[in-house]
Amino acid sequence: MAEEKQKPKKKGKVYKMSNVYDIDGNSIKTKNKKCPKCKVFMANHNDRWTCGKCGYTEMK
Ligand SMILES: [Zn+2]
Repeated sequence: MAEEKQKPKKKGKVYKMSNVYDIDGNSIKTKNKKCPKCKVFMANHNDRWTCGKCGYTEMK
């Protein structure tokens, strides 16, 4: 059986989508927009923001 490496868990809410954060080198930016409906962080895409909860999309 292969052992799964346990990643250190951070306190706070855990988001399913890994693209909630912009990982730039060793620094993690959390300046994402928030969904006007759900108040959750939106996923940062190249040309748009999308909410993973309700599907709200905002073009940049
Ligand atoms: Zn939403």
